[in-house]
Amino acid sequence: MLGKSMYVYDEPEATNEWTARAKLHIAAIQEMLDNCNQDKERKQRIERLECQSCWYLSSGMSGQAFTQYTCQVCSEDYSHPNTSTPRVCWACATKLGICCECGADLDLKRRRLAATKKGG
Ligand SMILES: [Zn+2]
Ligand SMILES: [Zn+2]
Repeated sequence: MLGKSMYVYDEPEATNEWTARAKLHIAAIQEMLDNCNQDKERKQRIERLECQSCWYLSSGMSGQAFTQYTCQVCSEDYSHPNTSTPRVCWACATKLGICCECGADLDLKRRRLAATKKGG
């Protein structure tokens, strides 16, 4: 005989509990979006070379394993102390003013495209 717990979703109390959790989830995301729009942690964010999307909206679940990555700018191989692997190394991200995780502009500004490169 299966326990009552198999039918936990069938109970109004359970539905109410999941409803409450869903609302909390929405509230949490709303708060993340508010933080993202207000950008109050800009100073730390720029120091860590992350754009608003990666800083405020990524889950932040980074494991503790060293991961190997290749910088998408200078093609050097690096190892990173957790599993949220950057795409761009620290030096290149600093030089270009871009997010080390996704390569976006640190202030998410559209950049003017270089039309034609003249020597130098
Ligand atoms: Zn690099
Ligand atoms: Zn980013």
